[in-house]
Amino acid sequence: MLDIDLHSHSTHSDGLLMPAELVARAFAQGVKTYALTDHDELSGLNEARQAAETHGMKFVSGVEISVSWATDTLHIVGLNFDPKHADIVGGLRHVRAGRHRRAERIAADLQRSGIEGALNGAQRYARNPDLLSRTHFARYLVEQGIVKDTASAFKRYLTAGKPGYVEHQWATLTQAVGWIIAAGGVAVIAHPGRYKLNNRERETLLGEFRDLGGAGVEVVTGSHTVAEYATWARYAQRYGLTASAGSDFHGPGESYLDLGKLPDLPYGLTPVWQSFDLA
Ligand code: AMP
Ligand code: MN
Ligand code: MN
Ligand code: MN
Repeated sequence: MLDIDLHSHSTHSDGLLMPAELVARAFAQGVKTYALTDHDELSGLNEARQAAETHGMKFVSGVEISVSWATDTLHIVGLNFDPKHADIVGGLRHVRAGRHRRAERIAADLQRSGIEGALNGAQRYARNPDLLSRTHFARYLVEQGIVKDTASAFKRYLTAGKPGYVEHQWATLTQAVGWIIAAGGVAVIAHPGRYKLNNRERETLLGEFRDLGGAGVEVVTGSHTVAEYATWARYAQRYGLTASAGSDFHGPGESYLDLGKLPDLPYGLTPVWQSFDLA
């Protein structure tokens, strides 16, 4: 079992726990090195860092940036950067502004399918008004009895081709990796097995990402099967990328993997955290 977790979400994005609550849960479950990686948002980092210090844990600054690449949305995790650096602060402010416009279009699309009040409804679940996520819409659809759980909300709504899904332009891969590197951090492709890419597209992405200065890929994540750990371990080795590990925990009952329950990295990989000063 790993005592490190470099991917999870608080109420500052689409998680259910406050940063300090998340850190306490991580500590209780054996995590010694922890990164908070809210979507497109850094506002939870101070609280998380303080809580980690209280528990004697190592804290790594983190973020999960939404990126449009080719026809897909990708997530790029930034780790161990300066959260005050103007490039990443300004870049993320712009990404969050786009979420407001997208949320209005999602609500309008749901209304065309007879679902009323989705914008207000989703906003009630968003503790951070600047960070309206599809997850908050999913919770509203559950509340209204339209679907039985959030997984069904994504299956029947909110995903490509379904009501409540709208195309959206996020940051570019170049921007996201650039902001992270400018702020002194390392960039990692989040849950690469989740994207619907064929082999050629995967290789194009890995090559572009590495050429931009990207450092690693998540190998162990709640989004991967055990078979995918092996697949992405091989890609990491082939492309000279480091390996990261994180649960992608969003809250009790909403996530596949809990904090502190990550298996070790497959043998022979360089952990992304090897380059961090965790002393
Ligand atoms: P957004 O960034 O607002 O488009 O929302 C993306 C978030 O929705 C992800 O970070 C997940 O937390 C959640 N999500 C996406 N797809 C699914 C799914 N199929 N089931 C459950 N949650 C999902
Ligand atoms: Mn999420
Ligand atoms: Mn993600
Ligand atoms: Mn995530």
